[in-house]
Amino acid sequence: MGIIERMKLDGKKGFVTGGARGIGKCTAAAFAEAGADVAIVDLDLATAQNTAEEIAAATGRKVIAVGCDVTSEAQVQAMVDSVVKELGGLNFCHANAGICINAPADSMTYAQWKKNIDVNLNSMFLTDTIAGRYMLANGGGSIINTASMSAHIVNVPQPQCAYNASKAGVIQLTKSLAIEWAKRGVRVNSISPGYIGTDLTLSSPDLQPLIARWNAMAPMGRLGMPEELASICVYLAGDTSSFTTGSDFILDGAFTCF
Ligand code: NAD
Repeated sequence: MGIIERMKLDGKKGFVTGGARGIGKCTAAAFAEAGADVAIVDLDLATAQNTAEEIAAATGRKVIAVGCDVTSEAQVQAMVDSVVKELGGLNFCHANAGICINAPADSMTYAQWKKNIDVNLNSMFLTDTIAGRYMLANGGGSIINTASMSAHIVNVPQPQCAYNASKAGVIQLTKSLAIEWAKRGVRVNSISPGYIGTDLTLSSPDLQPLIARWNAMAPMGRLGMPEELASICVYLAGDTSSFTTGSDFILDGAFTCF
């Protein structure tokens, strides 16, 4: 079988957290287009159900929706159990759910800090280890975590210390798990997007006015689009990336190059 044929995900099963919209919706659609059966996992079950129906209709794959708060250990365990049961296994996952709380450090409350770390970093530990435990015991798999260029640089002008710290933690968690599981068939990688046009950026009243300033700083002069991140995730989920683990892929139109 040729390389391009081997990049397809026929027969594979996976889930995407934060899959109801934005980046996660786009990677879930790409996974299904590549031949996988996919679970759309999200706090917002109604939107996840609409997304699942839309992707199933477009691709003919089995696409299910699972409601889950990724900060809850019990809910993540129940979600993985139900994905395995309903799809018949688990070969890959994209741990992608995240939020951004902007507040100056000297007025950020401890509750705001903890919420951002909980949704963006503690959830990755839960998703990766609970899905990873299944994969370790069942023939291996591939885990993709969404970090951010904010793991590499401090964004300006908006103050977002908790977000930046959480995403830096995602990359070190990714590398740590990759090393622990390197000889046991489970690969763990991350993507670090730059500014991407999703509800997180376009619909936030705090961030919307900043887009022109970010674009003025960006070498390409524009936001990225979710579609521009999806093919690397298909590659990471599939078998042709078998020597790729512990890597972080910066997809930012060169924003972090200077
Ligand atoms: P989005 O807000 O459009 O979508 C996020 C999804 O996650 C939503 O459907 C939301 O319901 C879900 N979610 C939030 N909290 C959850 C929880 N506790 N449990 C389950 N689901 C939950 O955001 P997006 O722009 O698509 O971002 C996706 C990921 O990409 C995030 O981790 C974000 O930090 C990261 N990222 C985004 C950008 C960007 O510019 N948009 C840049 C770099 C990284």
